[in-house]
Amino acid sequence: MTQPRSEHRREIWPSMCIGYGVVSGIEWARALDAGLAVGTCSRCGQLMKPLPAEQQGARIVYPARCAGCGREAQGMGPRVEKPKKSAQDAKAARVT
Ligand SMILES: [Zn+2]
Repeated sequence: MTQPRSEHRREIWPSMCIGYGVVSGIEWARALDAGLAVGTCSRCGQLMKPLPAEQQGARIVYPARCAGCGREAQGMGPRVEKPKKSAQDAKAARVT
């Protein structure tokens, strides 16, 4: 029995997400501004506070840190779409 490990997905509350473990940037920014928690630590059960989002390659990563033990978790944002490519796709679709 092998199960995929998705600990950080469970730590970040579904209310922060727009889909299966995909973090909503708007909700994250709001929590960051207001100093609200975004999840619950799986180790000690304390609240996790958001850290500023970082772009890593084609995705935005949303790190959070436990207020109790300092454990860090990461939420993943949706893929960043490249404007150039989507404009090209739209053009190609129009031509065909
Ligand atoms: Zn903790």
